[in-house]
Amino acid sequence: MSSTPDSFADLGLSETLLKTLTEIGYETPSPIQAQCIPVLLEGHDMIGMAQTGTGKTAAFALPLMEQIDVKLMKPQALILTPTRELAIQVAEALQTYAKNLPGFHVLPIYGGQSYTIQLKQLSRGAHVIVGTPGRVMDHLERKTLNLDNLKTMVLDEADEMLRMGFIDDVEWILERTPPKHQTALFSATMPEQIRRVAQKYLVEPREIKIKSATATVAAVRQVYWQVSGMHKLDALTRILEVEEEFDAAIIFVRTKTATVELADKLSARGYAAAALNGDLNQQMRERVIEQLKSGALDIVIATDVAARGIDVPRVSHVVNYDIPYDTEAYVHRIGRTGRAGRTGNAILFVAPREIRMLRTIERATRSPIAPLTLPSRADVTNKRVSDFKQKVVEVLNAEGLDFFANIISQIAEEQNVGAEEIAAALAMMAQEGKPLQIAGEDPRPAPAPSFDSRPRPGSFGERDERKPRSNDRGGDKPSFESRGERPRREERPARSAPSGDMVRYRIDVGREHGVQVKDIVGAIANEAGIESRFIGRIALYDESSTVELPAGMPGEAANALKRTRVRGVPINLRPDEGRQDGGGSTERKFDGERSFKKKSFDR
Ligand code: AMP
Repeated sequence: MSSTPDSFADLGLSETLLKTLTEIGYETPSPIQAQCIPVLLEGHDMIGMAQTGTGKTAAFALPLMEQIDVKLMKPQALILTPTRELAIQVAEALQTYAKNLPGFHVLPIYGGQSYTIQLKQLSRGAHVIVGTPGRVMDHLERKTLNLDNLKTMVLDEADEMLRMGFIDDVEWILERTPPKHQTALFSATMPEQIRRVAQKYLVEPREIKIKSATATVAAVRQVYWQVSGMHKLDALTRILEVEEEFDAAIIFVRTKTATVELADKLSARGYAAAALNGDLNQQMRERVIEQLKSGALDIVIATDVAARGIDVPRVSHVVNYDIPYDTEAYVHRIGRTGRAGRTGNAILFVAPREIRMLRTIERATRSPIAPLTLPSRADVTNKRVSDFKQKVVEVLNAEGLDFFANIISQIAEEQNVGAEEIAAALAMMAQEGKPLQIAGEDPRPAPAPSFDSRPRPGSFGERDERKPRSNDRGGDKPSFESRGERPRREERPARSAPSGDMVRYRIDVGREHGVQVKDIVGAIANEAGIESRFIGRIALYDESSTVELPAGMPGEAANALKRTRVRGVPINLRPDEGRQDGGGSTERKFDGERSFKKKSFDR
């Protein structure tokens, strides 16, 4: 982290964007941002070796936004992403960074979404297009997307696009972009084919890598929890509650805003917690650290910069609530615990998309990070009960109980009840505010992720799809039904799928690969040219999954799907030999062939 400038202002960004970054709580640039932003602002082509979680989106988005002429309602930047999820996510990030740029418009376009809607949106105009290669190609072919005014082109997660078989499409698009534009290519790895594409289409690119210097970590117990099935905040409080030897914790998040939000939420749950961020002056910062030392505070929620150099021996735990940008930051963070010869504990929260970063950290630190099973309700209850017992025993040994014993005798006599019942009533009273038995349900170990891979209300692509779509019906490329809340895919009733014969296939990716239903939907929709609504039930198992697809799949689609990878793992799609589940699938009748877009295979 020492190589990271402390301020976005040093990177050459405009006042408008600097203001936005302050407003959204970005305190300092991440290493990849610190290196890429000046290079891109100078107009160079570049290759960035970075993965999700490093802050790469802002690294390319902020410079490209500086070049947009908002008055010209034409695509001036094109960002290609391997999946629709990433397209939506990147578009949302851009829209966030554009909060002080009135009139700025970014449009995600991806396979599986209705053409009618996309054509309408494209004809309205957008400054930045974020799309998956297949769909961008379709629009270029149909001349519904014009790149004459293109200034910047970004290939995001290029190695994923290669893995998913999109590299020819990417090259096809690169061939058809106007010669004078800046190109930035981001990739977590640099396979030969990506290098070749870079050599062919990028002009004297600057290469930027975030260093992943190997470092040894102190004797700290390191565990990670893969975020699923439960909100991070709930998981955090559960974990902290049952952790042995918990004394004090530093919790790391990315933004200033998040430090304050999390401190407020933890305080509301009864923790002595406070935020530590770059907005605090030196005096306030020292006060927080002093309070942590003295025990007036047990939890400090900090950004990387604000927590630099903290040396508080009672910090028994470091929680990486948001994954760090790089190994260096990780090593620095966990170095805040295990001080003065004490043992330390480091807990890392990892979203499914960030698994790669977890592995990078493990490699660089040469120490495995063990998965953590979320404590169950019973675990929390047991811990609360044993703490309670201990407190009671401590008080039993205290002086001056006679006065109280006398009151109990009086109650026993007046009410004709035993001492045990009175003790139970008192125990019940004593738990007020923090019940010994916690309510609610345990999350399933790896719950079915939400089916709907499309954006949530208020985000991209949603508004138009939610309007009544009577004119969209009956076309040869049906798209999603307009609807409100949609059940999870695994629970989706048969009637919401088109009727017709479905065939169940097995694929070699499952929960253990960090795969979510939306990844499978995205990959199949993109690769087989099948609209999402024609993809039937998906069931996730640990090592594999099953997916129902319309009968009559064309050979090309089947071949494409055999080669498809999800999260880097070849899915090896094949008819499932297991038991067919009832599920009403035999009632489905529709022309399966029609749901596979022929065009996808004519490239
Ligand atoms: P990315 O690696 O681009 O997917 O970004 C990962 C996350 O980091 C996103 O939630 C961003 O909003 C957040 N992020 C990116 N840059 C910064 C920064 N400089 N400060 C705080 N958060 C950031």
